Amino acid sequence: MAPVLPQSSRVDAPMTDSWGRVIRYLRISVTDRCDLRCRYCMAEAMTFLPRSALLSLEEIAIIAERFIARGVTKIRLTGGEPLVRRDVGELVKRLGAHVGHGLDELTLTTNATRLAGHAGALIAAGVRRVNVSLDSLDPARFRYITRHGDLAQVLGGIAAAATAGLRVKINTVALAGLNEEEIPAILGWCAAQGHDLSLIETMPLGAIDEDRADRFVPLTRVFERLAANFDLVRDAHRTGGPARYWRIAGTDTRLGLISPLTANFCDGCNRVRLTTEGKLYACLGHDDQVDLKAALRSGGLTALDVAIDQALRIKPRRHDFRIDQGAAPAVARHMSVTGG
Ligand code: SAM
Ligand code: SF4
Repeated sequence: MAPVLPQSSRVDAPMTDSWGRVIRYLRISVTDRCDLRCRYCMAEAMTFLPRSALLSLEEIAIIAERFIARGVTKIRLTGGEPLVRRDVGELVKRLGAHVGHGLDELTLTTNATRLAGHAGALIAAGVRRVNVSLDSLDPARFRYITRHGDLAQVLGGIAAAATAGLRVKINTVALAGLNEEEIPAILGWCAAQGHDLSLIETMPLGAIDEDRADRFVPLTRVFERLAANFDLVRDAHRTGGPARYWRIAGTDTRLGLISPLTANFCDGCNRVRLTTEGKLYACLGHDDQVDLKAALRSGGLTALDVAIDQALRIKPRRHDFRIDQGAAPAVARHMSVTGG
């Protein structure tokens, strides 16, 4: 893909929001579509955006490059399932060329169903780490949670990634009555495989077919059980992200806890999120957004900069997530739309 708009020169002032937080991290939902239907993420009968509403890959690249010029040092491609978007490899290649030239890291979050076929190209493009969602190591439970998933295919994708040289971090959403009891075994498996593990509290994003309150597990409860089974030492690792980290003593395996409900992490937030239809959300948990697609199409990079500045001004101080029985989601958008 060749740029269709001229790249203007690097802007030196970092992007800072109204609360003094410097924005260095852009997450891009390259598609809201997915080949799985994880129960906590989507409804079985999800409606997806029409293709005509989407940014082209070229437009995504132009916007991402503008963010790099304005001080973003980390980009994550996510979704939906990023690897179901046709030609996503072209985008990875183009953005990968910025690694070491403004960009410190280009990474991906994936369900790994198609990872085996992409692992070599990701490494070649400069990707070094991927996050993979894996909520159970039991084939029947995995299929139940994802509604369609084939565990063997996903494990094959993870193995191919590791063989290609990608560092893998497993993401597991803790779910009462589904995988809560299994989490120590998942951590043990990660340690044996040399992967990191991040545990996530289920968040009230978008309507699903069940009440999230029925599945919500505070990670404080999960951590107590893990600490009884593993020698966990506090790890100073910081990514500027929401996780707090531990390490299994004597191993390289890091355990991250992402607890948006029980331990708010918004004070250190350094990220914004671009949807596949070109909306820039400054917070996962609020509806305020600016339309970068409209700006880019009407006024090129100049209008894009104005719109990005507007997003910085409206970035809220924090999310207000609550999981209450029978309550509506905090926002109607699913994680797959905003970019998880
Ligand atoms: N399809 C890819 C995957 O599953 O890794 C990338 C997109 S997915 C939306 C990104 C992450 O968000 C996954 O780790 C998934 O488990 C998590 N996720 C989705 N919906 C969530 C929710 N309502 N609360 C917490 N985590 C959620
Ligand atoms: Fe798809 Fe990821 Fe959502 Fe599961 S969590 S349905 S894999 S987007």
